[in-house]
Amino acid sequence: MDIQNLIAQMTLEEKASLCSGRDFWHLKGIERLGIPSIMVTDGPHGLRKQVTDSDHVGLNESVPATCFPTASALAATWNRELVYQVGVALGEECRQEKVGVILGPGANIKRSPLCGRNFEYFSEDPYLSGEMAASHINGVQSQGIGTSLKHYAVNNQEYRRMTIDVQVDMRALREIYLAGYEIAVKKAQPWTVMCAYNRVNGTYCCEHPFLLTEMLKKEWGHTGLVVTDWGAMNQRVEALIAGTELEMPGVNNGNDELIVQAVREGRLDESVLDRAVERILALIFKAHKTLAQDYRYDPQAHHALARRVAAEGAVLLKNESALLPLQPSTRVALIGRFAQTPRYQGAGSSLINPSRLDNLFDEMVKLVGAGQVTYAPGYTAKGEDVDQALLREAVETAQSAEVVVICAGLTDMYEVEGLDRRHMRLPDGHNALIEAIAAVHGRVVVVLSNGAPVEMPWVDRVAAVLEGYLGGQAGAGAIADILYGRVNPSGKLAETFPLRLEDTPSYPYFPGGPKTVEYRESIYVGYRYYDTAKKDVLYPFGHGLSYTTFEYSDLRLDRNRITDRDTLTVRVKIKNSGRVAGQEVVQLYVRDVESTVFRPDKELKRFAKIALQPGETQEVTFELDQRAFAYYNTAMNAWHVESGAFEILVGASSRDIRLSATVEVESTQPPAPPVDRMRLAAYYRLTGEPIDQAAFEALLGRPLPVNAVVRGEAHTLNTPMADLCGSPVGRWLIARMDKQMRAMFKGQEDTPTTLLMQSIIRDMPLRGMLMFSGGTMSRETLEALLLLINNRFFKGLAALIKANRKRKTQ
Ligand code: BGC
Repeated sequence: MDIQNLIAQMTLEEKASLCSGRDFWHLKGIERLGIPSIMVTDGPHGLRKQVTDSDHVGLNESVPATCFPTASALAATWNRELVYQVGVALGEECRQEKVGVILGPGANIKRSPLCGRNFEYFSEDPYLSGEMAASHINGVQSQGIGTSLKHYAVNNQEYRRMTIDVQVDMRALREIYLAGYEIAVKKAQPWTVMCAYNRVNGTYCCEHPFLLTEMLKKEWGHTGLVVTDWGAMNQRVEALIAGTELEMPGVNNGNDELIVQAVREGRLDESVLDRAVERILALIFKAHKTLAQDYRYDPQAHHALARRVAAEGAVLLKNESALLPLQPSTRVALIGRFAQTPRYQGAGSSLINPSRLDNLFDEMVKLVGAGQVTYAPGYTAKGEDVDQALLREAVETAQSAEVVVICAGLTDMYEVEGLDRRHMRLPDGHNALIEAIAAVHGRVVVVLSNGAPVEMPWVDRVAAVLEGYLGGQAGAGAIADILYGRVNPSGKLAETFPLRLEDTPSYPYFPGGPKTVEYRESIYVGYRYYDTAKKDVLYPFGHGLSYTTFEYSDLRLDRNRITDRDTLTVRVKIKNSGRVAGQEVVQLYVRDVESTVFRPDKELKRFAKIALQPGETQEVTFELDQRAFAYYNTAMNAWHVESGAFEILVGASSRDIRLSATVEVESTQPPAPPVDRMRLAAYYRLTGEPIDQAAFEALLGRPLPVNAVVRGEAHTLNTPMADLCGSPVGRWLIARMDKQMRAMFKGQEDTPTTLLMQSIIRDMPLRGMLMFSGGTMSRETLEALLLLINNRFFKGLAALIKANRKRKTQ
């Protein structure tokens, strides 16, 4: 396809029209030029293809598809090949359903366990996130289907996600929040990257020249296109210049016209538009080529794959006296409603309509027969209240069994797009159930279903804990496989489980608001913080038990001295020293022994997952390049390695280092300019106390913006709806939205849908009305309403009349 030739034939209007969607899920085509329209659909762990009513938060039905485990579980496999296979399967489903791009994966860092969408993200570590995202993308794209790496960037909370301004320092940005995207882009070239809703250091992601032009396109060489998150467009022309080619969803909001006008008025160079159109057309034709052929996938094979992945993504956190695996002859009491009604995915735009759904009770019965398993629900569907009758019944059922398996976790009201969790506890009914059973039974296994860490106040009173994450439609079978030893667990935590929420490094600053959120903890995210501050955790990053044991030996470096231009080869031997076959995740961390800049205690730089038969030994080889030793130096604007000793730490978790060796690295770069250690003292010695404003400002190199709504401050199109309550027009708009939403989703009260609706209304900026009204409200009308909200009555009324007139004549 000669794209240049096509562009040459297009009118200015046609070119601009391609820069936004046709509707919720389609890109535009141009019939007269033979340009087809393609469909895109959510993601990330299955297809959410809507054929009737559309929405971006999973409220309306979608066609049945395989619901794979969500990203938390995928990452816990630490298995690149398996994640690639999931990608292939997703790609196949897209081919059958004629979907050109699947929106995902999400590579946002888990800054706080509370982020409402953590279940959709991989890890607190950028290297692991990036590797998982790259495998996912490569898998999907091997099928000739595109992906959308999202939400770029620094979208680590749901609270005010559409407007919040993230204040983050350049080192944290480079080392933590962008590094995963960098890996994924360089290794996998996602066909599209989705820019996030939020602002970063004052600028909306959709119009962020540093993020989009400097980093993504120039430094990392992204050749695909940038698409907005649904409704994330702020200023269309600025966004195009910064590198956002495509606006989604397509609503009649006047933005295409703004592009045309800007070219006509000489404010936008037409070549910028041409380059955007070139990328859009390249995507359309690539996808169209695949979709022109019919394809059918095998749903059984995908279900089987989903089960395999869920089993590898489950993490055995504790297994006292080798209680697991169970013998088929063991009499088991299976307690907890989740055993019958599984919790297997999160709410929001990633909500899949599963092609089939297994439950643990049936899966266990299939393996060991009905006589071996008794069941009691133990808690109410909501899980919040402690129901004494259900508790009594559960205790009785437990007492007559040899082993009790309790299914607990977070209900679907806890993990919802648009809403962060408020605490890290399980619902009270679940905690009470575990305590009550543990008080009367010594052989208790807790199986958890949740997409992010939870507190476990009862952990010392139960024998085993299996973290099943949100295992997708086949997750129950996977848990049964592990419980009975048909699968040897090999999942490892891709995130730290802290003891208490208060221990988390972002705790004092999360989620911030009303305007900004300050990432004062900087690079100290997850284990980088806990290990440096030497804080006890419930379960460390990388932790996960197996039914076998592994011995680490013979750690060898090919050299003891290198320069930062060399590659260091590290070899280590791993032996399966137990009695069953198993898989181990060998983790390599690097520690800078002495540094003039502050650095974390250790950082994950490589990992490998290997399968070993009993008695078998395998040598694993890792190669370390400059980046493995570098930090980002903001004064030099470069990745910098300081000369000196570095420890190579190899182990089974960040707190289970089995072997270490030292290498002397000689830097070939000039020494870094001196740093003001005094002002940054809080970052050199982590005390556990919050970082004060002065230290963070010293790190940022500028004062922080005011984080408050100032009295009398004029509202803008970016003011969140919740902040418009003081104005009658604002209240009217909110009431209108509320009414409309209630009518749309009648009968879904008291479900995650209600929470979602409330969050949309609260957090949406006023400009979102253009999208929400489906094009029935014009930009002029909205601007007139804004004047009224700001008490400029006469001007506002005049503008409203003018807007109405214009509408009528159109
Ligand atoms: C979400 C995206 C999603 C999009 C389309 C947005 O609300 O943030 O992750 O892909 O909607 O549904």
